[in-house]
Amino acid sequence: MAIQSVGVIGAGQMGNGIAHVFAVAGFDVLLTDISQDALDKAISLIDRNLERQVSRDKISAEDKKATMGRLRTTLKLSDLGQTDLVIEAATERETVKQAIFEDLVPHLKPETILTSNTSSISITRLASRTDRPEKFMGFHFMNPVPVMQLVELIRGIATDEATYSLLLDVVNKLGKTAASAEDFPAFIVNRILMPMINEAVYTLYEGVGSVRSIDSAMKLGTNHPMGPLELADFIGLDTCLAIMNVLHDGLADTKYRPCPLLTKYVEAGWLGRKTGRGFYDYRGETPVPTR
Ligand code: NAD
Repeated sequence: MAIQSVGVIGAGQMGNGIAHVFAVAGFDVLLTDISQDALDKAISLIDRNLERQVSRDKISAEDKKATMGRLRTTLKLSDLGQTDLVIEAATERETVKQAIFEDLVPHLKPETILTSNTSSISITRLASRTDRPEKFMGFHFMNPVPVMQLVELIRGIATDEATYSLLLDVVNKLGKTAASAEDFPAFIVNRILMPMINEAVYTLYEGVGSVRSIDSAMKLGTNHPMGPLELADFIGLDTCLAIMNVLHDGLADTKYRPCPLLTKYVEAGWLGRKTGRGFYDYRGETPVPTR
């Protein structure tokens, strides 16, 4: 089966980036969200990001127009039933994702491939709640999607070889590179990255360093392009906390205990860049540390 149409669920920072790269690569994209505002913002953001690519001569003005023409939005999840490939990129909460798949499954054509962009949740468990665990996979894009080269491919216990090969082919069509990971909590990238971010928050919590000193120590001392707290704000502190909870629950090891300070930021609604405040305050001209 050749994939031509793609349904993307969730129009947040990941969903809009995923819709962007698929439309650029020539796929027809149908983007859905529970919020019309999120859909409107996603389309105008994609338009702006494509415009930037035109001004840098990465794509032509005609390519941009054709790309925008391949993008459609809907508030009705059932409209995605006729697409060849569905990518779920809604909030990182298992109950939210399960409810989405439960609502969607009755509307799907038999051959549709189902995937989740989850950063950490068990693919096997999500797949088991659908009618097609053999056609279900983890399809983990990195943020920002148009810029980052990697896509993690995660097979659930029941995923068949045909589904894996099809998605590998899709990754190649997007001009990206795949890495395969087994289905254990947080897979490869976040299994390694999130404990480092969580440790950076502990370092702040215990007063070992300030926000600025922790970030500049890691940037200049380990050659990371962003400091861990800046990166946490970029990812979203709710997503970071959700991933730490999946690691903690799934591996039952206290080394994954989420830092109470991370929990406090999330409880305050200071989720990072997307809400204007996290370890930095983004509401002014330049980001200012909040501790
Ligand atoms: P986000 O908060 O920016 O966006 C989530 C979107 O999902 C929101 O627009 C929300 O309205 C929508 N949503 C919630 N419930 C929904 C439902 N029932 N139906 C349709 N839409 C719904 O989050 P994000 O950063 O884009 O993360 C989305 C997914 O991508 C998560 O699973 C996350 O773990 C994963 N992910 C995130 C990153 C990152 O760096 N932020 C990287 C890789 C993967």
